[in-house]
Amino acid sequence: MKKEIYLNKIELLKKWAYAYYVMDNPIASDEEYDKLYHEVLEYEEKHPEDTVSDSPTKRVGGVVRDEFSKAKHIKKMWSMEDVFTSDEVQEWIDRLVKNIGEVEYFCEPKFDGASLNLLYENSKLIKAITRGDGIIGEDVTDNVKTIRSVPLSIDYSGLIEIRGEVVIPKDDFEIINQERIKEGKTPFANPRNAAAGGLRQLDSSKTAKRRLVFYPWGLGENSLEYNNLSKKMDYIYNLGFLRPPYSQECKTIYDIESFYQFLISKRDEIPIMMDGMVIKVDNITKEEQLGYTVKYPKWMCAYKFPAIEKVTKVNAITLQVGRTGVITPVAEVEPIEVDGATVSRATLHNFDEIKRKGLMIGDSVILIRSGDVIPKITKVLTDRRTGEEKEIKRPINCPTCGSELLDEGTLIKCQNMDCPDRVVNSIIHFAKKGCMNIDGLGSKIVEILVKENKIKDILGLYSLTAKDLEGLEGFKERRIKKLLESINSTKGVELSKLLNAMGIEHIGAVASKSIALEFGLDVVDVTEEELIAIDGIGKEMASSFVEFMRVNREFVLKLFEIIKPTVETKVEVIDNPFKDKTIVLTGTMSVSRTIIKDMLEKLGAKVSGSVSKKTDYLIYGADAGSKLTKAQKLGVKNISEEDMNKLLKK
Ligand SMILES: [Zn+2]
Repeated sequence: MKKEIYLNKIELLKKWAYAYYVMDNPIASDEEYDKLYHEVLEYEEKHPEDTVSDSPTKRVGGVVRDEFSKAKHIKKMWSMEDVFTSDEVQEWIDRLVKNIGEVEYFCEPKFDGASLNLLYENSKLIKAITRGDGIIGEDVTDNVKTIRSVPLSIDYSGLIEIRGEVVIPKDDFEIINQERIKEGKTPFANPRNAAAGGLRQLDSSKTAKRRLVFYPWGLGENSLEYNNLSKKMDYIYNLGFLRPPYSQECKTIYDIESFYQFLISKRDEIPIMMDGMVIKVDNITKEEQLGYTVKYPKWMCAYKFPAIEKVTKVNAITLQVGRTGVITPVAEVEPIEVDGATVSRATLHNFDEIKRKGLMIGDSVILIRSGDVIPKITKVLTDRRTGEEKEIKRPINCPTCGSELLDEGTLIKCQNMDCPDRVVNSIIHFAKKGCMNIDGLGSKIVEILVKENKIKDILGLYSLTAKDLEGLEGFKERRIKKLLESINSTKGVELSKLLNAMGIEHIGAVASKSIALEFGLDVVDVTEEELIAIDGIGKEMASSFVEFMRVNREFVLKLFEIIKPTVETKVEVIDNPFKDKTIVLTGTMSVSRTIIKDMLEKLGAKVSGSVSKKTDYLIYGADAGSKLTKAQKLGVKNISEEDMNKLLKK
């Protein structure tokens, strides 16, 4: 390869990386990217003298150091004044107006991360410095080079300081914490800590793994001639930086307040944790007229969001029994309002987590709630202990049925199949959509039926009579008829659906399908080895399945006898564009999505409910919503129903 070709390849790689990491709009496949990347790497290994410093191959890290050297910011990195209420915003504005008259404001989300200053000289990134005390910070350049959304070179000559926030998207934060829990490490309390920690790794290849993202929010040293901050920031975004999902120019407190409320309403949707909104005077001459206090610029403030972290007290631990018998401890806390909702319980997952956190009854804790996530205890405030706290003991007997529990370490299980909680939860699972889909059999009804001794297990559903239901609360003649009909209509259902409905631990819809196809009604006698031989079935799944069949053999055979499930036949699928692909369907299609799902499955596709990086195609109909957006973001190929039909006709 000639040097010129090498340089061209670098340019192409940068363009693809920009489209992927900054624009969220991939223009090349991963395979193409990897191929080109390796060609470049190979050339660089042979010709180190030609290697350019901003080559995308320089982003993998690998620099290990003992400590960080200190580095000075050219212009001071100020912190911000916090305001918490609409009244305080009004006071802040009144002070401004008194000094400089009416002005316009530039508002944007305030992301919860670690502040960073990037110094570019003659278009190259030469230094990345943490905020530190605002004057001197730590030089984390090697680490920052691994962050894909930080351009290593920009189209700007001279010296410029670009300030912004290093953050971790919420989903990635969850993944990182799950990995930490698996490794026996303490999970991070919030994305900010994880981001700051990632930035300060002594080994830069560790930073590379932290999935950090950089959003610029301001400038230090620069010679841009715009007189509006919003214009300057527009210029910066166009240099190849991430643009915040929303920003707004506001004229009045009403505009400010409504944009603030808008951002709060988007709090769950925006993939980055926000802790407020930044309000800045947009006119730069006016900013300079206003100047600074000792601590803050007078021309900007952070209008903080209501806290989603609160301190409360754990009053008790209660135990829930799930359908598989697993006991989940739940912390009953002193009710508090968090982000507009009253919270009185928080999940603790299992007893190992209680031990890891060192939680005791009576402890003060930090509780976090974000979006639809169940509130979690992130920290135990041990220094607030009074000595009255009580140890949380691992339970020995089932809280519902009293039978002796099986303590497997991480999981503690009630093994009594007739345990009322297990029965109720397993019937709820059996009846739900995607399983047997029994209309009219919701969780409330199941609870009543079990409590009133009308049924004691899943089989009981099939011997229910109208007489059994008469007189039960809320049961009129029509409702009784409908429920019995929908129970009856599950007879003859596909075997895979019935297996899924049994609620076997670790066995979901996809696994049920492949097991049903492979073994038909012989599933009751299948061995672990036979199961593991199936694509997609691991050891844990296999042993859970075999154990379930061993314990529940009679029950399963009876269920087969009553329901007479349809055994789906495995047909060798001819080659087609969807064979072995993972597909997600969304939006309104010309026929019901179930019909399309069945058709695709017959073609050998796996149809899944949610979009992930593993999805090969998203097929959309009219009015497609968030799944399409997510697919586009992840770079998943998305095609319309029409495109799908065209591909099939080929
Ligand atoms: Zn029990």
